[in-house]
Amino acid sequence: MKVEKSSQDLESEVIYAGLCIHCGSCNAFCPHMDFNKETGEAYVVDECAETIGLCYNACPRTFLPVNEIENKMFGKNRIDLGIGVYNDIIQVKSNNSDDVLYNLIKTAFIEKIIEHIVLGEQKSEKPPVAFPVIIDNAKNAKNYIPKSTIANAGPLLTGIGQAYLEQKKKVGIIGNPCHLQGLSKLLTSDFNTGAKETVSLKIAYACSSGGMSGCKFCIDFSGEFSDISYSPWGAPKGEIMLIIRTELGQKVVDRAISKKLIEITEKNPNLSEMKKFLYKKRKKNFKNLIGKSLITAKYLRLNLHDLKELLEE
Ligand code: SF4
Ligand code: SF4
Repeated sequence: MKVEKSSQDLESEVIYAGLCIHCGSCNAFCPHMDFNKETGEAYVVDECAETIGLCYNACPRTFLPVNEIENKMFGKNRIDLGIGVYNDIIQVKSNNSDDVLYNLIKTAFIEKIIEHIVLGEQKSEKPPVAFPVIIDNAKNAKNYIPKSTIANAGPLLTGIGQAYLEQKKKVGIIGNPCHLQGLSKLLTSDFNTGAKETVSLKIAYACSSGGMSGCKFCIDFSGEFSDISYSPWGAPKGEIMLIIRTELGQKVVDRAISKKLIEITEKNPNLSEMKKFLYKKRKKNFKNLIGKSLITAKYLRLNLHDLKELLEE
């Protein structure tokens, strides 16, 4: 799918409209877009002659064809409106002094599922704070494992474009749900960006809010377009909910367990607490979308059935 719009439309519909969440998808593979190296905010560098702009088509806030992305990424549509497509949800804890997230990354490096990873380096206190860094081994990755989604908010997707330019393969990422939305558009679009050859494991950090003004229009809590979603939300203290969506995600979790880096504490966890966070965010932000303008909600392309279910949650 390619929409015939370009950077001017991206500016007017997303950046100036207050929808931008500074994810870096628009400037990951387009030389006419960049992000401000002080504030992390996206901007158009120069006018291009494109009528079908990669920036517009990569942005998760211009349009998000959820069903189409799910079918292309997972070969099926969601079984749960709020959580998305998944194969399993387990509750785990770390078996060592490292946290679960780092143990998953360490496993992915050991098993050569990834050879590099895009992580965020915190540059300031006010989101977007995380600027992309490309890390080449598990030891260095430890310094950049996000402790919260606010600390992980910023143009991380630009790191995927940079990794491609550096001809890196098997590149992982720990992103907020919005990063994974942008990446999923790049991975499933009809543009030949190089993202498909570059990206491997995608881990999402479940997010109530990234602390940016555009966050109030976000209804993805769990990181629906990841291989694994990591949620401390709704798990007992010191434990984590892992939503496993793909075979690749399952492989990483299985290996981390067999190496005794993490262990399952509950195979069939009670999801009610996690769903409370999830529905609270979705309901509140969906009302923000409608309140701002029904036009603003068009990026989700919701039909009446979706609207009814969202408002009933
Ligand atoms: S792709 Fe991300 S950074 Fe770029 S305009 Fe859209 S939301 Fe903002
Ligand atoms: S709420 Fe979280 S996932 Fe949503 S746009 Fe903000 S940082 Fe991204």
